[in-house]
Amino acid sequence: MLNFVPIESSATGPETSGDRDAERARAYARVKFRLGLFSAGLDLAILIWLAFSGASLVLSHELQIVLGRHNGPGWLVMGYAVVLILGFTVIGLPFAISGKVIERRYQLDRQSWAGWLGDELKSLGLELLLGVAALELIYALLRGSPGYWWLWSWAAFVGFTVVMAQLAPVLLLPLFFKFRRLTGDTPEESELIARLTRLGERAHAPIHGVFEWKLGEKSAKANAALTGWGATRRVIVSDTLLQSSTPVEIEAVFAHELGHHAHRHIPKGIGLQSALWLLGFWLSAQALQILTPRLHLQGVSDIAGLPVLALVAMVTGLIFMPLSNAFSRRMERQADDYAFSTIGTAGPLVSGLTKLAQRNLAEVSPPRWKEVLFYSHPSIARRIERAKHWERAQGQGKLQA
Ligand SMILES: [Zn+2]
Repeated sequence: MLNFVPIESSATGPETSGDRDAERARAYARVKFRLGLFSAGLDLAILIWLAFSGASLVLSHELQIVLGRHNGPGWLVMGYAVVLILGFTVIGLPFAISGKVIERRYQLDRQSWAGWLGDELKSLGLELLLGVAALELIYALLRGSPGYWWLWSWAAFVGFTVVMAQLAPVLLLPLFFKFRRLTGDTPEESELIARLTRLGERAHAPIHGVFEWKLGEKSAKANAALTGWGATRRVIVSDTLLQSSTPVEIEAVFAHELGHHAHRHIPKGIGLQSALWLLGFWLSAQALQILTPRLHLQGVSDIAGLPVLALVAMVTGLIFMPLSNAFSRRMERQADDYAFSTIGTAGPLVSGLTKLAQRNLAEVSPPRWKEVLFYSHPSIARRIERAKHWERAQGQGKLQA
């Protein structure tokens, strides 16, 4: 039988610790949401200012002077990209610091400021490397094929995303976190390895190792994932999850991850993303074409037009966010259903998710509009409701059989 942890206590009756937890989660969600909104709003305002005030023209002109003899188009793109990325990093710094202060106040953050700064610098290094490479490619295509640059750029983006979707967890995650292969030294560990391996084989996703993800030294939050491909396909389970959950609950959370694999959600997600990018690139090309004379750009491949490209990309992403989130929530529901039927009961996933929500201070039942617009996962309350529904349907099935 299911033993659901009460997620919303009754309105009457004395205040319970559940009420306080829910209020804390709501307050945390509220303050994080506002911070994200301010940060995105500021980015948007700066891009608009750069694009339409003439500031971008001044910047590219100044860069040409600074670069001196090296002011060929490739150097100029690199210089502009570096200034833009560094500028946005500096402007975003107060938000990043506030984010960390908030996480600390809610006892979710455990990393020292020095460690945090190190991680921020690593992220910045990666951003510079990938950002400059991407912009060099886009601008080389803009110069070489002004009519079809958007199509070639899109194809390159999709190719890169397909490769990185597989490699990023294996290549990039270890830059920020330590991992330890579970060897099954304790009975609990070997039970967990056996359960996860068995589940992977059943889903035709043989896994090569279960790894403890050392998240606990940086955060109190918990997480688990199925990452990599072929010989690198592995399960990573955060130490925080290992400490707070039973093997049965972790198995259920992992079964959900396998559901994504079984339903081929990664390729499907990339498919939708690619379609949106194609639209975004095409719209950028149109915007650049129309605005080039009005903004006094020397041509579509003038680097001073970059804020226009970034603006169109950001606005397209924002407009289609509800659509891609709806798509994502649908996939999450499918993965939950897969977990229920693979395990044969909804209870372990429900208790696993409830514990995850408590640890991560997730808002259990956020306002509906917020979920529709911004949530990539259904709210915990909805997922639990669906689990109960599944259990009831099973019970009826058994009665009819
Ligand atoms: Zn999922």
